[in-house]
Amino acid sequence: MSENNQLKRELRFAIIGGGMAGILAAIRLRESGHKHVVLYEKADRIGGTWRENTYPGLNCDVPAHSYTYSFEPNPNWSRYLAGGAEIQAYFEGVVQKHKVEEVIRFNQEITRCVFENGVWHLTTASGLQDTADVVIAATGVLHHPNQPNIEGLETFAGAKFHSARWDHSVPLDGQRIGVVGNGSTGVQIISALAGRAGKLTHFQRSPQWIMPVNNFAYTPEQIAAFQADPVLVDKERYNETYLANVRNFTDAIIDVDSPQMAGIEAVVKANLEQSVSDPVLREKLRPNYRAACKRLIFSPDYYQAIQHPNAALVVEGIACVEPEGVRTKDGVLHPLDVLVLATGFKADRFVRPMTVRGRGGVDLDTVWQSRPKAYLAISIPEFPNLFLLNGPTGPVGNFSLIDIAERQWAYIEQLIAQVQSGRCREVSVSAAAMDNYEERRIAAAKKTIFASGCTSWYLDKEGVPASWPWSYDRFAEEMTAPRLEDFDLAG
Ligand code: NAP
Repeated sequence: MSENNQLKRELRFAIIGGGMAGILAAIRLRESGHKHVVLYEKADRIGGTWRENTYPGLNCDVPAHSYTYSFEPNPNWSRYLAGGAEIQAYFEGVVQKHKVEEVIRFNQEITRCVFENGVWHLTTASGLQDTADVVIAATGVLHHPNQPNIEGLETFAGAKFHSARWDHSVPLDGQRIGVVGNGSTGVQIISALAGRAGKLTHFQRSPQWIMPVNNFAYTPEQIAAFQADPVLVDKERYNETYLANVRNFTDAIIDVDSPQMAGIEAVVKANLEQSVSDPVLREKLRPNYRAACKRLIFSPDYYQAIQHPNAALVVEGIACVEPEGVRTKDGVLHPLDVLVLATGFKADRFVRPMTVRGRGGVDLDTVWQSRPKAYLAISIPEFPNLFLLNGPTGPVGNFSLIDIAERQWAYIEQLIAQVQSGRCREVSVSAAAMDNYEERRIAAAKKTIFASGCTSWYLDKEGVPASWPWSYDRFAEEMTAPRLEDFDLAG
């Protein structure tokens, strides 16, 4: 060992969550030579959102080659937009190849994470205790199902489940199926079930703008070419059209009067006009808010699905659920065998309900009382050596969160290096830098399309978009290197 290495501290790392971001952190830490890495996963399998969501029609609306780790290209993606099972298999393959399971403690849900005497003390639901110098919170964003508060829901006599808790023992073919919710999830479920259900009823509270997309299959020849030549896979991943679309999209979000936004609006409006023939149905499907205010839905086939002879769109509000089905406010009972709640997630939770206490016992719940916040989505004052991946106020939208997490990791690594090199023992953003960031972020967020007059999970309880409000390029630039003057380097 060189003298330089001897000076370096052997840090102990705890990663919380075995989804896309936690796996990334484990691989990168081990590649960097860290020996004390433990990943706590509450379930018995990796995969995060791709483990939990198994509903029919599940796919990722980000192109498969772009929704891929940069260091693990996959020549074998079967389609432009991969299905959920294929994505889960990809992550399992990556975990196996990198032997990540060696460091995973399955069925261990962290319930407490408390910083005392310069060290994080972790406790799991089963009572296991551990300590770590550095904690990586990779607990995901859309994680806690939002169970709707609908009167009589518990009285339903048929099968009923949230989209992220799909009960695969329930027969679907020929059944009378109701789906509540038309976010990306509800739309994908309707598309998958239109040809299978005896009667499919889609309960829509607010309409959605829908971006058409051609989800083509890669031909065996294309896949063989990808397998033979990694350069072609890279070309597909860093596809100029896709990157231009991401830039176009993020530029549109932050400049609501831009030609880019006008372009998006024109496409979704034309999609509605051209795809839905019945003028009454078309008007029911037409939102009264601007495109991309809610997360834009990409779908090749929802409009066809909802026009299927067995499908019906119900726009009357839900009055209650009864044993036989759903009763709408116009008094009509919609009899159902299966009721699917595609009602989204509690998007403001992040690491919670875990108890997280920083320096001096400061409680994360208190710090996040008004809204979850973290400097550049990564660091919180007085929570030293705790770093978030895909944390609050990070970029969300119609692009690859793998790319976002990789860029965040490149930044976090440089903060960890401060501790490892011995320059300090504890690093966390300063309160002043946090306040300054958050003030600027909120001001910018209020000008984004997300705040242009709709409801969505992007908005916090005060109606402020909880996301990155600047361009993608600015995010990429910020992630290249931390401004150390914004951090408290202690000890
Ligand atoms: P969501 O976008 O939050 O949509 C929830 C839906 O449920 C909305 O239509 C909402 O109506 C409705 N709803 C909620 N409570 C209701 C109630 N009490 N009565 C009637 N309707 C109710 O959730 P999601 O569709 O699960 O999608 C969440 C996010 O997951 C997406 O935005 C996306 O980021 C991610 N996702 C991604 C993909 C992908 O392909 N990459 C696929 C699925 C999900 P209102 O609009 O009126 O509130």
